[in-house]
Amino acid sequence: ADTIIIGLGGMGSAVAYQLARRKQRVVGLEKFGPAHNRGSSHGGSRIIRQAYYEHPAYVPLLLRAYELWRDIDQLSGQSLLSITGGLMIGSSDEGVFQGSLQSAEDHQLPHEVLNAAQLQARFPAFRPQADTVALLEKAAGFLHPERSIQAFLDQATRFGADLHFFEPALQWQVLPDGSGVQVITQQATYEAERLIISPGAWASELLADIGIPFQVERIAQFWMAPTNGFTNFQSARFPIFLWEIEDNIKLYGFPAMDDGTRGVKVAIYPTEQWCTPETINRTVSPEEIAGMRQILQTYIPELNSDCLKTITCMHTFSPDDHFIVAHHPQHKNVIVAAGFSAHGFKFASVIGEILADLAITGQTNHPIDLFASTRFAAET
Ligand SMILES: Cc1cc2nc3c(=O)[nH]c(=O)nc-3n(C[C@H](O)[C@H](O)[C@H](O)COP(=O)(O)OP(=O)(O)OC[C@H]3O[C@@H](n4cnc5c(N)ncnc54)[C@H](O)[C@@H]3O)c2cc1C
Repeated sequence: ADTIIIGLGGMGSAVAYQLARRKQRVVGLEKFGPAHNRGSSHGGSRIIRQAYYEHPAYVPLLLRAYELWRDIDQLSGQSLLSITGGLMIGSSDEGVFQGSLQSAEDHQLPHEVLNAAQLQARFPAFRPQADTVALLEKAAGFLHPERSIQAFLDQATRFGADLHFFEPALQWQVLPDGSGVQVITQQATYEAERLIISPGAWASELLADIGIPFQVERIAQFWMAPTNGFTNFQSARFPIFLWEIEDNIKLYGFPAMDDGTRGVKVAIYPTEQWCTPETINRTVSPEEIAGMRQILQTYIPELNSDCLKTITCMHTFSPDDHFIVAHHPQHKNVIVAAGFSAHGFKFASVIGEILADLAITGQTNHPIDLFASTRFAAET
């Protein structure tokens, strides 16, 4: 093969599609089944937004990501991307609101600023405090992560990629003469010119030699049944939102969906529940549900209600919360996509394109200096 991909989650499935479409011979290896729920890319919905408070460098990538999401949406005939608008709620002087407003102004993204009374009048489920403000970003919405991954995998296969599920990579190495790479699984030994490693929460295991301390955080997601029915939770009245309820503590959620996922999904982060994919407690306790309901009572009281479903998920942080999308610092035929630091899914479409560029030509026209794999070594 030309390229082996280890990990066919959000990023790995996207690059499998990009490479296969560009006529590369691809072998993909995945530890679990297609679009599974053991990693970081499941739970029915992921926020996508453009007014990025995290860093201005992400905005051009996001604009391209939207184009590529629309492409795969069309190609697959699926509805992967839903634009609902998005509310970035908080206090006016700093944090999520201020950063998002700055980004919306700098990049001339369509938006409105709402005070607490306007917020509550238009979006009646929310209970803002008097000094709360909100940015309404018009282009925000959500993606369906499992369907997106399945669409990438289907298209990759259609273009000839050879994808193997339930076949974890046990070991990888660069051949001693530097001519290629080798990956060993229980079933076979694969060789190729190059390797892409997109390991999600398994980064420490597969990238032990890269010298980057990844941290994995356990997150619980909750699906609530509103006390007064779903009227106030349709997307026009309840778009995606990210609410900084306390300094750096964020409550976020999605409108009710008609895809069989019953309930209104909400979650809170950071939790600082550090774990590994082996040690994570995948059960959400009654105490956690009670804690979530207590928070909802203050901010969205109709969701202090029955919890229909819960699931856990893992965030994988790099030391500076920016991605690592680059050549491996020691091996020029190994490419790494890791450390998506709780905000990666919306970029999967464009990360796939970037990784394919790096694999085929060794470089990309996309701005990825922020994502260098050597940046942590340089600091110490
Ligand atoms: C609760 C939660 C909410 C989030 N909300 C958002 C959001 O609203 N918007 C947003 O943009 N981002 C969000 N994120 C972050 C985003 O989902 C992640 O950044 C993204 O999904 C990471 O994709 P990935 O490909 O790195 O990991 P994954 O999709 O987990 O893929 C990694 C894959 O590698 C496989 N693998 C591991 N080891 C091996 C091996 N040895 N051999 C073969 N395969 C292997 C795994 O099985 C897995 O399939 C959220 C994350 C969580 C957990």
